Amino acid sequence: MNNDATTSGLTFDIQLSADRKTPEERAQLLENPGFGQVFTDHMVTIRYTEGQGWHDAKLEPYGPLALDPATAALHYAQEIFEGLKAYRHPDGSLSSFRPEANAARFNRSAERMAMPALPEDLFTRSIEVLLEHDGDWVPDKEYFSLYLRPFMIATDVGLGVNHPSRSYLFMLIASPVGSYFSGGVQPVTVWLSKDFTRAAPGGTGAAKFAGNYAASFLAQSQAVEKGCDQVVWLDAHEHRWVEEMGGMNLWFVFGSGENAKLRTPPLTGTLLPGITRDSLLTLAPDLGLPVEEEPLSIDEWRRAAESGEMTEVFACGTAAVVTPVGFVKSDEGGFAIGDGEPGPVTMRLREELVGLQTGKRPDEHGWITRFQ
Ligand SMILES: *Cc1c(COP(=O)(O)O)cnc(C)c1O
Repeated sequence: MNNDATTSGLTFDIQLSADRKTPEERAQLLENPGFGQVFTDHMVTIRYTEGQGWHDAKLEPYGPLALDPATAALHYAQEIFEGLKAYRHPDGSLSSFRPEANAARFNRSAERMAMPALPEDLFTRSIEVLLEHDGDWVPDKEYFSLYLRPFMIATDVGLGVNHPSRSYLFMLIASPVGSYFSGGVQPVTVWLSKDFTRAAPGGTGAAKFAGNYAASFLAQSQAVEKGCDQVVWLDAHEHRWVEEMGGMNLWFVFGSGENAKLRTPPLTGTLLPGITRDSLLTLAPDLGLPVEEEPLSIDEWRRAAESGEMTEVFACGTAAVVTPVGFVKSDEGGFAIGDGEPGPVTMRLREELVGLQTGKRPDEHGWITRFQ
């Protein structure tokens, strides 16, 4: 990456925190950080004003924002976000996995929400600036990483609803995270949700839009009431076609050994186009596992699982990488996937992907961006 401080004509103003954590405090926090609970010393902020474009890029101490109570984002949910990770590779360098794909998706989400695009180099430069100052927060333990959360909110003040905001705030915050599976990889039980839908044609399902999550919590609570870990979203029209699991994309394994093949639902516009999903579409064939992007109905899911034709199911996303699904429940009863334990294809893909991201496997696809 370039090392001068200007990007897209912007220079980052660096305001260092006066009360950074000491190395001892940081080491203590990195012991068992959980997920999204601990934050680094600094954050990036960049402002946008219609007519002026992006301006006032800053690295500043991590801390609360002062917002007018009539700020647009608080009323009309004009907010988008991204999620990616920085890893410490065995040689000590700091890298990220396909950050340009996150930058591109951020701008597709922005477009859907009538928000301004952020130049992609500014997106990656903000990560670089944060890592330059908070790089010591990237853990070096296996399966640990620094979760990066870029986001953008509408900052116009006023309650008018006839047009999108004319000013925005982009921010980047970072949170060291441990392994999602501290006690080993545990398969999840999922609930097929017919009472609620996540996304409808023409809606916002393909955007990483905060409101999609607000709309999902009730269904997730219902899944938990039914004794499940996660909700599975079905299509809005027929409640029959499988779309996603919570905030992750789904994969189905048919057959085993030499004959194993993979299926994932196609991107119809109501699914979030996961970068992990996209990476597996390339990685699985590299490993001799054919993939197809084809719809799966809940009837086929049950039939194939019960006949043994479907051998494994897993979900994928940045936070948990690959999560096996062991059991499925719905109004019509439940069924197991295989013996309910994580299967060999699931675990193989998980190891490959983690190996690539953490620099233990060669980067054959140019997916790694090295920051330091
Ligand atoms: C972020 C997200 C995913 C996974 O995307 P990745 O880029 O793989 O992390 C899947 N589904 C939803 C709804 C998401 O918000």
